[in-house]
Amino acid sequence: MPVGPDRLLVSDWSMLEEKFLKRLDGWKSNTLSLGGRVTVINSCLTSCPVYHMSMHLLPKTIITKLDKIRRRLVCLLCKWWWKLEREEGLWQTIVRNKYLRQGGIFYIKHKQVDSASWHDLLKIKQLYLLGRCMVIGDGRRTDFWGDAWCGHTPLSQLFPSLHAISNDLGCTVRELADRRWNFSFKRWLDEHNQRCLVELGDKLMGVRFNQDRDKPVWKWEKSGKFSVKSIYTHLSSNGIDRSFKHLWKAKIPLKIKIWLWLIWHNAIATKDNMKKRQWEGDTKCRFCHEKETIGHLFFTCSAVAYVWGTVTNTLGATTRPGCFSQYFWWITQHSAFSRNVQIAGLAAICWAIWKIRNRACFEGKLIRSPVELICTACSFLTHWAGIHNETDGAMLRSGSAGLQEEALRVHQVYARNTRRRLEDDAHADTVRPDGD
Ligand SMILES: [Zn+2]
Repeated sequence: MPVGPDRLLVSDWSMLEEKFLKRLDGWKSNTLSLGGRVTVINSCLTSCPVYHMSMHLLPKTIITKLDKIRRRLVCLLCKWWWKLEREEGLWQTIVRNKYLRQGGIFYIKHKQVDSASWHDLLKIKQLYLLGRCMVIGDGRRTDFWGDAWCGHTPLSQLFPSLHAISNDLGCTVRELADRRWNFSFKRWLDEHNQRCLVELGDKLMGVRFNQDRDKPVWKWEKSGKFSVKSIYTHLSSNGIDRSFKHLWKAKIPLKIKIWLWLIWHNAIATKDNMKKRQWEGDTKCRFCHEKETIGHLFFTCSAVAYVWGTVTNTLGATTRPGCFSQYFWWITQHSAFSRNVQIAGLAAICWAIWKIRNRACFEGKLIRSPVELICTACSFLTHWAGIHNETDGAMLRSGSAGLQEEALRVHQVYARNTRRRLEDDAHADTVRPDGD
């Protein structure tokens, strides 16, 4: 522990970096087992700086350096997934028999009886899956919805609304092909989903099988082979780290930034989260009758699906996002918005949903039509346009105008239907003897 009469300099901390690198030698020598590597990350590379941090505020440069080393180790750990899927050996045979049986790695979940190192490996599985695509052989080891096999993106992300109501989660490509792509859904498909299904069918037309095993390839390398460097580059450039960097820089009110950050960590007071804290109330969504979770409230609830449908129509897209992680990918595909505009858009929609949800929960005021959600979101967008630069501000204003126009176009239908319903009600009232 460095001690000095004055403020400590960056150079005083070099010993911490050296200590880090010294532990890393063990990794370089390649003699450590998987469990050993996990232990190095947990015991040394995480706890060393935490110990020092309890006494001092570490200089920013040192934190960045240490993070870099840790990131490299996480990337190295991803290599084990690649080895498991692509290489043959005793370790692979044991692990496949114990944890995978016949299926692929997509749907493996953590169980209580799992060993600690397997548990740690599972923690970084999602990161590994981001870079890995499947080349179809016999189709028996590829998850239809979850794995990226028909192009570079999983079908669950290309068709989120179909995926959300699919009964075939966990089915392999082969299983569904044997059923002649006869999908089963939890409910009737609305117009949007019917269009999606046709599009999905088109995509599946060209699928051919052969006798080989399905093979993973690495999409971040031209050679298709896994490399630690490519995953490292991804992590430090446009990966998970950066979405938060953009969030903190976004030009929206600070309290909403913090609120969004909490959503990302599943830490806002939705009913399912309240239940976990011994709250005794009804966990049903206030707009429909499904369980209120973050994913439901902001993306899949029927009232909210209408909002995303309107946004989708305004952008001229055919699919809509099904969760937060899909949003940024989706909006980049369908618009030329800057990151600030993307975040402001997301924040406006979610904040509007949250406000109206709270009004419904605490004041008992239900919305008359989901158009109210859009108008509320648009009012935030135009309000925040003032604090953006000229280009972004103009984009937010025109986006808001476009959304309202689209909403009102649909609203005419809504308005007409509502009027008809009211007239019918009135008519029923006049015929009923006790009507007033
Ligand atoms: Zn709902």
